Amino acid sequence: MRTEQFDEIIAFIKSLYPGETPVPLHAPRFFGNEKKYLADCIDTTFVSYVGAYVTRLEEMTREYTGAGKAVALVNGTAALHMALLGLGIGEGDEVITQPLTFVATCNAVRHAGAWPSFVDVDKASLGLCPEALAAYLLGNARRASDGKIYNRSTGRRIALCLPMHTFGQLARIDEIIAVCDDYGIPVLEDSAEALGSFSSGRHAGTLGKAGILSYNGNKPVTCGGGGMVITNDEELAARIRHLSTTAKQAHPYLFNHDQVGYNLRLPNLNAAVGCAQMENFPAVLANKRELALIYSDFFQNLGITCIKERDDCQANYWLNGILADSRAQRDEFLQYAAANQVQSRPVWTLMNKLPMYRHCACGPIPNALWLEDRIINLPSSYRFQACPQH
Ligand SMILES: *Cc1c(COP(=O)(O)O)cnc(C)c1O
Repeated sequence: MRTEQFDEIIAFIKSLYPGETPVPLHAPRFFGNEKKYLADCIDTTFVSYVGAYVTRLEEMTREYTGAGKAVALVNGTAALHMALLGLGIGEGDEVITQPLTFVATCNAVRHAGAWPSFVDVDKASLGLCPEALAAYLLGNARRASDGKIYNRSTGRRIALCLPMHTFGQLARIDEIIAVCDDYGIPVLEDSAEALGSFSSGRHAGTLGKAGILSYNGNKPVTCGGGGMVITNDEELAARIRHLSTTAKQAHPYLFNHDQVGYNLRLPNLNAAVGCAQMENFPAVLANKRELALIYSDFFQNLGITCIKERDDCQANYWLNGILADSRAQRDEFLQYAAANQVQSRPVWTLMNKLPMYRHCACGPIPNALWLEDRIINLPSSYRFQACPQH
């Protein structure tokens, strides 16, 4: 990328979003039944987590992703937290994840009492690298007499692997699962960003033991705030449902609770918005994938690398991205874009650099460091008007 190209890039992005100043990175769009369904909640007084829209959103998510079960929760972080507890992850356990992720991945691990450890991503998928994972396990994993896998250096039980599908691009999930299977380590997919992303026709989050989705305001489908656990394991889904509903035992009138529960179920009000959003999601997804093609053509002509879906993968392109040549150039571009009313963003600061995760176990992470310096996310909202160039 050359500094002389900045102007052309910014002008092009503005042409994609006429009338939006500044051009947001990712704005929620409401052009369906959102208001109607919200009014219905108020009219029927079903505003809390007991409500038809909660069940409907779970059904729509199951149908769309092909998962056997779906449990709606207040946000993606809560979905991760409940999935971790449901999978038996607890105090002092170790969860292998990637340093290139949103902080919620690691926070949920800590909420469950466990510690993240960091393994590198690969440059093409932006997700956990199966080769780096295999090397980390080869160097650190030891099977104890209790049959469980422990980390030689930390002394902790390696209880789970938690890869993330970055920006809706698929991690190399089959290979990750194959490596973990050799050690009997279960896989939970952080597919918070990946609603509408498929690996060989299978939806993100449905390949490991469980996956989670987020319906935060900046995600492809929003409930305002919301999350979902998807899984084919019926017992796991039942445990999560129970735990997140104050662990209340079913009874016509008695209040009996059999463990310390949580109050993390999604309210009907939020689910109502989500149902309306899901109805339009096929159109939104097509629009976002078209935008990715438009970006890809444009940047290819400029000789700039775009983040693209891998073979056999269909990404939702939640956020589009390009790669700068260096951190200095990335910062120069980000400043230029901000000064010219276009929201672009660097990737998250790597998790192993944050004060609360700085001391966690961390393998060699050359690819994560390389990507951290270069990734620039570009405006990726649904476009109301077709691009003039197409
Ligand atoms: C958005 C996101 C979450 C958390 O979702 P919330 O609904 O915001 O709690 C978790 N992990 C990743 C990778 C995310 O992008």
